[in-house]
Amino acid sequence: MKSLAAIKQDAVIVGAGVIGLATALKLLESGAKVSILERGRMGMESSWAGGGILSPICPWDYTDAVTRLVRYSTGLFPDWVIALQKATGIDPEYHQCGMCILPPFDKEHAIAWCSTNEITIWRQTLPMPFPVTGNQNTVSSHQNDVEAIILPGIAQIRNPRLLKALHRRVTQLGGQIVENCCVHDWNIRKNAILSVQSSCGVFEADSYIIAAGAWSRLVLGKHAMNLNIQPVKGQMLLFKFDVPPLSMIFVRDNLYLIPRKDGHLLLGSTLEDTGFNKRTTVSVRKRLLDQAQFILPQLRDRPVIRQWSGLRPGSPLNIPTIGRHPELINLYLNSGHFRYGVTMAPASAEILVNEITGSMQRLDVSPYQSGWSQCDSSSTHPIL
Ligand SMILES: Cc1cc2nc3c(=O)[nH]c(=O)nc-3n(C[C@H](O)[C@H](O)[C@H](O)COP(=O)(O)OP(=O)(O)OC[C@H]3O[C@@H](n4cnc5c(N)ncnc54)[C@H](O)[C@@H]3O)c2cc1C
Repeated sequence: MKSLAAIKQDAVIVGAGVIGLATALKLLESGAKVSILERGRMGMESSWAGGGILSPICPWDYTDAVTRLVRYSTGLFPDWVIALQKATGIDPEYHQCGMCILPPFDKEHAIAWCSTNEITIWRQTLPMPFPVTGNQNTVSSHQNDVEAIILPGIAQIRNPRLLKALHRRVTQLGGQIVENCCVHDWNIRKNAILSVQSSCGVFEADSYIIAAGAWSRLVLGKHAMNLNIQPVKGQMLLFKFDVPPLSMIFVRDNLYLIPRKDGHLLLGSTLEDTGFNKRTTVSVRKRLLDQAQFILPQLRDRPVIRQWSGLRPGSPLNIPTIGRHPELINLYLNSGHFRYGVTMAPASAEILVNEITGSMQRLDVSPYQSGWSQCDSSSTHPIL
């Protein structure tokens, strides 16, 4: 039997996060032979660490390029998830739970933006923090009314389950996921890649796709040109309640609380420039807990059942780069999704596969193809 590395593929993808897996799935559905090379275990980096909110947390703060991609992608989500669930038997718990945004934010701008983009909002006055069950007296003396905006159409998904479903579907369709396989070099002749060198041997394909998240520039090496994708650490805390203490996602500044259906509650997050260091810290745990008091004071008395961090693939204005390398004709990138890679995954996969197969794009993709000529990435972290 030929070794895996000896069989030429239609496409080799570097990185098995949500972007690499979604891209592989789209290619497999078009009949391609695909291998994914993953340095560690599949789906254990940023894609696993994220919160699974399927929207920017204050959507009015982003450029049209982000808004268009998010809207197109979230429109694909329901059918994408239903098909995945049907084929794999794994439920990624996609549901429209809604998202409540608490001040401070520019209310007039937010309302005008939602109106222009035809997004339903409810304006509501809420007492903050929420009353603590069985201890009303303590809390009522500290309560304030705040004017919130609720976006009832926002959905969430459980990232680890989505990744498991994608993994299973990719495998069902004949995709090969090679774990513990670190890509470290390219064999290039003229303007094309002949093969990729990895810790598991040499792999050949017609097309090579980099979906290595925060590590994409490292994988590209000297071919990264002016691509500005940098790691941005985010820390998260996990709690467990008997019943969900909140019925929707709550956001205040960069803080968010995400209730899962089974009583788990995620509290996040930070935006930290610490390079590739993923250490979690006591100071961030304390700060997140302090900030969360404003919404849910009972968290103070709850044990944190887990704290973790992930490295987002940070990019200027949160605009990913999806497309062909300007000089190497069979090299593609699908990366730099920064804070919203889960949200943008199905659309990003579709855009890239349309580009590879020469199919028509359903939206203007030019904003996602200018990342190779970004600003000088050697200056101090321009992304944060
Ligand atoms: C705390 C936190 C909260 C977040 N919340 C949300 C949210 O609510 N909603 C949302 O949409 N997004 C969220 N995100 C962002 C989202 O998780 C990312 O944008 C997305 O996961 C990026 O996916 P990816 O596949 O590009 O990267 P990754 O998941 O990091 O995958 C890249 C893969 O490439 C592999 N790799 C790297 N180098 C090599 C190599 N040399 N050879 C082989 N493989 C390699 C890595 O091991 C990794 O598995 C959050 C992120 C964090 C950290």
